[in-house]
Amino acid sequence: MPVKPVKKIWMNGKLVDWKDANIHILSHVVHYGSSWFEGIRCYDTKKGSAIFRLDKHLERLYDSTKIYRADIPYSVAELKKAIVETIRANAMKACYIRPLVYRGYGDVGVNPLNNPVDVAIAVWEWGTYLGAEAINDGIDVCVSTWTRPAPNTLPTLAKSGGNYLNSQLIKMEALKGGFTEGIALDVFGYVSEGSGENIFIVKNGECFTPPVTSSLLAGVTRASAITLLRDAGIPVAEVPVAREQLIIADELFFSGTAAEVTPIRSIDRMPVGGGKPGPVTKKLQRMFFDIVRNGRNKHDWLSFLPGK
Ligand code: PMP
Repeated sequence: MPVKPVKKIWMNGKLVDWKDANIHILSHVVHYGSSWFEGIRCYDTKKGSAIFRLDKHLERLYDSTKIYRADIPYSVAELKKAIVETIRANAMKACYIRPLVYRGYGDVGVNPLNNPVDVAIAVWEWGTYLGAEAINDGIDVCVSTWTRPAPNTLPTLAKSGGNYLNSQLIKMEALKGGFTEGIALDVFGYVSEGSGENIFIVKNGECFTPPVTSSLLAGVTRASAITLLRDAGIPVAEVPVAREQLIIADELFFSGTAAEVTPIRSIDRMPVGGGKPGPVTKKLQRMFFDIVRNGRNKHDWLSFLPGK
């Protein structure tokens, strides 16, 4: 989806014009995939603009960079301030927020340790990620022939740029095959996740989602969905999921910042449950949207922008 330029992007402490937010072609990140980022949403709730789970996203950003020995040269408080400043500078009420940490210009070899750790924050408008009808009707997905990275290869708990080469393979294969999204298995054959979403299975009133050791990104929406489902009295287990559990599920849905809570209506052309979003998925959607649309600050997950 083409991005609509906004006015300013924050780069290493300064707000620069959109068109000037550039880096040198020999920056380490361009060659070796050395970046770590977040995708966060700011919602225009009925009670004012609010960022969803900002602390949790920033915690994951610092965790991602720790794994790769890349020290972010700003404190959490400084990055929070910079995010609010960037939203304000672009007069956005609702937006997608992309904090990006990357190894910049310096040495040109694989060793990243002498390259600077640069930081940028961009915001832009982003609607429904998987298509306008996705949230209401559900989407058609396939099981990918691509596997998620094996443990101890590319750490999937780091949200790193390089990991998205794997996601791109999954996504392209799905799209070229006429599906909206693909679900990848881990190297042991257990279900892992979508190219940019976590997966949940509902069977006989219980919910399952693969554990973080199944080569997946520990999604902030995944954690939120687990909490909300348990709030609703629906049991949720983080357990290895067999491929065939997708086929015989009553309901399947994706969770993610971009995807929010998106029902899956078919898997490899087989209808899931009744081929329509089921009651557990719809209940979770209602609970999630009550927070982000109505501004109900359940669990203190919303950071309202100051001055509202
Ligand atoms: N898995 C992958 C590979 C992702 O890119 C994302 C999106 N960040 C997710 C899961 C969902 O994570 P979150 O709920 O934090 O957006």
